[in-house]
Amino acid sequence: MKINTLPQEFIDAQPILKTLENAGFEAYFVGGAVRDMILNKPIHDVDIATSAFPEEVKSLFNKTIDTGIQHGTVMVLDHGAGYEITTFRTESTYTDFRRPDKVTFVRNLREDLKRRDFTINALAMNYSGNIVDLFDGLSDLKNGIVRAVGDAEVRFTEDALRMMRALRFSAQLEFAIDVNTQQALTKLAPNLKKIAVERIRVEFEKLLMGSQASESLQIGIRDGVMAYLPGDIGTWDLSQIILDLKSNQANTAQVAWIHLLVHSNLNVKKMIQFMRIWKMSREDIKVTSLIAPLVHHIETAHKFELYQVFAYRKILFEVLCLMQVSDETMQRITTIFANLPISKSADLAINGADLIRDGLVKPGPEMGRVLRIIEKSVVLEQLENTPDVLITYIKGLKSYDKN
Ligand code: ATP
Ligand code: MG
Repeated sequence: MKINTLPQEFIDAQPILKTLENAGFEAYFVGGAVRDMILNKPIHDVDIATSAFPEEVKSLFNKTIDTGIQHGTVMVLDHGAGYEITTFRTESTYTDFRRPDKVTFVRNLREDLKRRDFTINALAMNYSGNIVDLFDGLSDLKNGIVRAVGDAEVRFTEDALRMMRALRFSAQLEFAIDVNTQQALTKLAPNLKKIAVERIRVEFEKLLMGSQASESLQIGIRDGVMAYLPGDIGTWDLSQIILDLKSNQANTAQVAWIHLLVHSNLNVKKMIQFMRIWKMSREDIKVTSLIAPLVHHIETAHKFELYQVFAYRKILFEVLCLMQVSDETMQRITTIFANLPISKSADLAINGADLIRDGLVKPGPEMGRVLRIIEKSVVLEQLENTPDVLITYIKGLKSYDKN
């Protein structure tokens, strides 16, 4: 197969392949970018693989960074954004289940493609757009199949994370999982217990955001994968989440987690524990543990803090849409939004520039604090949203500060 019109992302990177080839090395575009181009999907990172060893790569370009040189990866900055160039390599097994114990650089493309996880990820493309397809990745792409390169059991034993990746590619690309690959998944799912949480989280979040997340979660339950994920998530009843994700898709990982936790039956303390087990960021833990209960309160018309609704209105709305809440709840939230005295921070009658010009507040962290105070007071209808009222109030704050 030859691609005649390359997407711009590849054209931009072509000079790098040319430089490597002119120096007598082989160089190819590899991995996700080639797969996504053939599927007509947006291309993320263009990765390059080469027969040149890292020191040889470095000698051919002006600006490089050793991003992962012990694993063979050098970042080349000579042409625009920066491209990761990785030397063809083979990998040993993963004793600590994080990284291969040892990588060995090789000069042969086949060896490099053989160590990749799935046939659809083991395609390479040369400078002229010719596709190298040594493991029938093209036919799997055409038929929509996630299939391990080689013996699935061996590949999942080398690196158990590949099982999570099988589910996430199936969710993202709307692909089926090949029968042998799926049988290996059922057999080796317990190995996921040994994988670093951070690696699992990356794949799980991509799965949750996939257009076919619902099916992948069902496969994950059926094949026993979910049972080995962190935080005992395998014991949860995911039926409502699966149902919601059948017709809707989470746009961000944060929305996906909030959605999950809304349906978790965990109290806030347990929610925070769960998110710590998953090693989520402090910010995600804060936002999620605040919004998940808020969603319940809105659904049940229970008391809630109006300013929280204002502050998190965008994400709150996304979660409610994902959940397909009742018309009544949707009506309730729409009315709350419509009745807010301001619908966004920019609607305040004064802004930071006004306060600096009038010498009321200096630029810096204090500005954010003052604006938040008046924003909250306006949202709660404690202050009228006019310049005079707000400025008088801020002057009062300032004199209070001085005492
Ligand atoms: P995405 O678009 O989500 O980035 P991707 O296919 O580029 O998808 P990456 O995780 O960026 O996925 O990995 C790049 C390539 O490296 C993959 O296409 C695959 O060939 C290889 N790869 C990544 N992780 C593994 C793994 N655990 N085992 C084997 N090969 C892997
Ligand atoms: Mg990638």
